[in-house]
Amino acid sequence: MKKHNFSAGPSILPQEVFEKSAQAILDFNGSGLSILEISHRSKDFVAVMDEARALALELLGLTGKGYQALFISGGASLEFIRVPYNLMQENGKAAYLDSGTWASGAIKEAKKFGTVDVVASSKDENYTYIPEGYTIPADADYFHCTSNNTIFGTQMHDFPETNVPVVCDMSSDIFSRELDFSKFGIIYAGAQKNMGPAGTALVVIKEELLGKTGRNIPSLLDYQQHIAKESMYNTPAVFPVYASYLTLQWLKNQGGIKAIDAKNNQKAALLYGEIDRNPLFKGSAKTEDRSKMNITFLLNNEAHTETFDKMWKVAGISGLNGHRSVGGYRASVYNAMPVESVQVLVDVMKELEKQA
Ligand code: PLP
Repeated sequence: MKKHNFSAGPSILPQEVFEKSAQAILDFNGSGLSILEISHRSKDFVAVMDEARALALELLGLTGKGYQALFISGGASLEFIRVPYNLMQENGKAAYLDSGTWASGAIKEAKKFGTVDVVASSKDENYTYIPEGYTIPADADYFHCTSNNTIFGTQMHDFPETNVPVVCDMSSDIFSRELDFSKFGIIYAGAQKNMGPAGTALVVIKEELLGKTGRNIPSLLDYQQHIAKESMYNTPAVFPVYASYLTLQWLKNQGGIKAIDAKNNQKAALLYGEIDRNPLFKGSAKTEDRSKMNITFLLNNEAHTETFDKMWKVAGISGLNGHRSVGGYRASVYNAMPVESVQVLVDVMKELEKQA
C-alpha cells in the first residue's frame, strides 16, 4: 500500500510524475533509450530543459520580464555561496534575515565574501517566529530571506518593500502560493520538496543584476556562464530535471499556482484546525507565522507519544517525526499531498483523543 508521505524532503510527488518517470526510465519518448542513459545533448533532452525553464517562468508569472530560470546542481546550499559570489561587491555588504537553520547557513557562507548585516533574528526563541520591524540598509548589495523555514514550520506572509534586490530561498514553498514574484531579484529552491527528486535546484534570476561585482567568479559558480550555456554549462542532473519538468506540467494542468494555493489553504486549515481544537496537541510555531507547507506540532503530554506514534504508523503515515531541533511532529503538506491524506492524520489525532 502506498503510504501517506508527510516527509519534509525528499518528499511526496504527484502520482502521475512517478508513473511517467517509470515509463521514461524504461523507454524515453519511444527513443529506445532510458532517460537514465540518454545524452544531455540529445534533441529530446534539450527540449525538456528548455521547456522546464520556460514553464518555471510561466508558472511564476515572470515570462518576458527579464528573468532567466536555471536548473543547476549543488542543491540550495550551493546557492548560499553562488548568491554572494554573484551579487556582493568586493568589500561589499549584504543584509540577511535570520529566520532559521537554513537562513543561518546562508549567513555563514556570505560572511566569507564581505560584510553581512543580520537585520533581525528569531534565534532567541528557537526560530518559532518570523522577525519583523527591521530595516534593510539602503547601501546593501542585496537582502536575503528564507520564505519558509522547513524545520521550524514558519513562513513569511509578507515581504519587505525595499529598493535593494531581494534574494529568497524558497526551497520549501516554491510554487505553493500566489506571490508577486517580480519583487524578487533571485529566487532559488532545491528541487526535492515541492518540485522533484533531489539532485537539481531551480534558480530564477533577474538578469540585469548580474555582472556588477568586479569579482573573478569561477565558471561553475557564475550565473552568467550558466545562462550563456542555457543551463547546460556542465552535464545537468538529467533525471531530476525531467521529473521536475513533469511536476511543473502537472501543476500547470492543476490550474497553476492559483489553484494549488487554494488547495494548500484547505489542507493547512484542516490540520491547524485539529491542532487547535484537540486538547492533546499544540502548534509549535507562533500562530501568525505558521507555515502552510511544514506544519509543526507537539503533544501536550508526552506520555501519549508511544500510542500516537503507533497509531499513525498503523494508519499508513510516514515521515511525521519532527526535526531533532524542534521535537514533536512535522507534517509536510507539499503541493502533491492530497487532502485525503491530511484527513487520515486528523482522524488519527481524533482517535487518540477518544482513547486518552
Ligand atoms: N533551504 C531550505 C529552506 C531547506 O529546507 C533546505 C533543505 O531542507 C535547504 C536550503 C538545503 O537544501 P539542499 O539540501 O538542496 O542544499
